[in-house]
Amino acid sequence: STEHFEDACLFCRIIKGKPSVSLRRAILETEYSFSFLDVNPTSEGHSLVIPKYHAKTLLDLPDEYLRDIAPLLKKVAKAAGTEEFNVIQNNGEGAFQTVPHVHFHVIPKPGPKEGLV
Ligand code: 5GP
Ligand code: ZN
Repeated sequence: STEHFEDACLFCRIIKGKPSVSLRRAILETEYSFSFLDVNPTSEGHSLVIPKYHAKTLLDLPDEYLRDIAPLLKKVAKAAGTEEFNVIQNNGEGAFQTVPHVHFHVIPKPGPKEGLV
């Protein structure tokens, strides 16, 4: 298997759909990657894209997973229905990483007509 998980990791548990994880709303999924909505969204459609491999930071992630995630970021942004969005990826507590499993934020930036900032 290409998968490599840690039992104690929240995002590994979300990927595996453990019963204790109530929120597992997959948006898109591949052999190497998984995406779901952020529980505390910055904007409507704020999504997280993560590898099916437990690595804390980008530096620990094997390149095969990174290669799979890049095109998925585009698909998740398109699924959110916007062409204006931020992709954010934090490494280490000093860089505001709070969940120690590599993740990319895809944050739609809807215009003022949608009433969100
Ligand atoms: P970081 O600050 O580590 O880059 O971002 C972690 C993100 O994970 C935060 O935006 C937070 O809202 C999200 N998050 C934390 N716990 C959960 C959870 O249990 N489910 C989901 N869907 N998102 C979570
Ligand atoms: Zn993990």
